[in-house]
Amino acid sequence: MGQIRIVQGDITRLEVDAVVNAANSTLLGGGGVDGAIHRAAGPDLLAACRSLGGCPAGEARITPGFRLPAKWVIHTVGPVWQGGERGESALLASCYRESLAVAKAHGVATIAFPAISTGVYGYPKQQAAAIALAAMREWVDDFEKIIACCFSAADADRYRKLCRECI
Ligand code: ADP
Repeated sequence: MGQIRIVQGDITRLEVDAVVNAANSTLLGGGGVDGAIHRAAGPDLLAACRSLGGCPAGEARITPGFRLPAKWVIHTVGPVWQGGERGESALLASCYRESLAVAKAHGVATIAFPAISTGVYGYPKQQAAAIALAAMREWVDDFEKIIACCFSAADADRYRKLCRECI
């Protein structure tokens, strides 16, 4: 049986098989967690991403982690929040599911997610956390450990309140 674990901190430091990147559709880097992952992984990550030719919202692509402790980076493109009636929730759920499917196909046992779309993309944090946890619960037994990596203590608290069984 797998576990969902809530961790507060910088996702680029985690020793897991795969970290998920909240990328933009060009996959060519950006701010927030995307910038942090590219800085920590080094320039080979950008070269690998260039060869992928972008990624639509709700889908996921995989590259090596290069200088990261993680072996893989799974790049997924979250929806930009536009009020909630433009399919945002389905797209966000799809980001988590597609990332987990790609991870499983690559033999990943431990994987960490940031709170996709909740930074500059403006997704309401509580709703996003509920969607993230629902997808993680669906897949938890396909993995040893799924980590929700929260950047702030407030974000970690929000996840903990929504997930009594999380560690
Ligand atoms: P998006 O464009 O999908 O909204 P952001 O990177 O702006 O992506 O924000 C997504 C989430 O990632 C936010 O909750 C932000 O606080 C968090 N974040 C930013 N840097 C890091 C990091 N180094 N590790 C983990 N989470 C991070």
